[in-house]
Amino acid sequence: MTKTLTFTRVKTRMTTRNSERERALVTTVARWFRRTARPLPWRDSETSAWGIVLSEVMAQQTPVARVAPIWLEWMDRWPTATDLANASPADVVRAWGRMGYPRRALNLHAAAVRIRDEYGGEVPADVDALESLPGIGSYTARAVAAFAFGQRVPVVDTNIRRVLARAVLGIAVPEPPRVKADIDLMESVLPTSAKESVAVNAGIMELGAVVCTARSPLCGDCPVAEHCAWALAGFPANAGRTRTPQKKYEGSIRQARGAILALARNNPHVTASDIATAVPDQPRRDLALEGLLSDGLLVDSAQGFSLPT
Ligand code: SF4
Repeated sequence: MTKTLTFTRVKTRMTTRNSERERALVTTVARWFRRTARPLPWRDSETSAWGIVLSEVMAQQTPVARVAPIWLEWMDRWPTATDLANASPADVVRAWGRMGYPRRALNLHAAAVRIRDEYGGEVPADVDALESLPGIGSYTARAVAAFAFGQRVPVVDTNIRRVLARAVLGIAVPEPPRVKADIDLMESVLPTSAKESVAVNAGIMELGAVVCTARSPLCGDCPVAEHCAWALAGFPANAGRTRTPQKKYEGSIRQARGAILALARNNPHVTASDIATAVPDQPRRDLALEGLLSDGLLVDSAQGFSLPT
């Protein structure tokens, strides 16, 4: 069945879609996922909704191999949202370690405070309520509703967008993200059963992470190759679409922020001269410091710079 989407180019592509092939595709993905899913610690059936929130926020911009040990530490130290809410922001930022984008740590703390104060310590199950929490965007809210509460909710992240573009629409590189069109597309392939839809969401995401990767898709080993629109079309290149090159970390403001934050994690107070030694390049240092202060990850006092208390 052809679905109507607001995004014209996607709509054009969708006229060539084949619902029977797509049903076979998602059934195969779900079966493959149940058989081969990586044993990530948060995939244990006993993981709480709070554990899922943590895993989704942590794994958003950090590889799962780096997230796993820190997720275990956090679950041991702060097993509930209330436990994290009662911790100091400085401890939370320190425990974030070197996972990158540390603003997520402060957002998680703020979300935990809201969950403690407004929801009696229980993570809300509703997508809109989840999305109203600090640092929880559309992807995370949907992922928590699906993976923590078993709801039939389309989940869309970068991996899912790429697999849908290739396997469903038959194009090598996805169009730029458009939240509604992307969600509509995922919705159109989700089975009606909530339980099956959760496996399809997780399975397509896993396929994009370990098989249908951005640079070198392993089409020869792909469980859905025989149902993949792009493979069936002979792997045509996208007209005029290329991947956005990744920004270099070395010499970036992000690297300078990381160096300054590492000092603050290990010392109660850090002086301007400590920071100048760690980041000699002044313009980069100033921008990094300004960003950390405005993000609330550092505070300035008479003794120097420190993590927020
Ligand atoms: S056949 Fe290749 S392009 Fe298609 S879903 Fe599998 S890995 Fe991706």
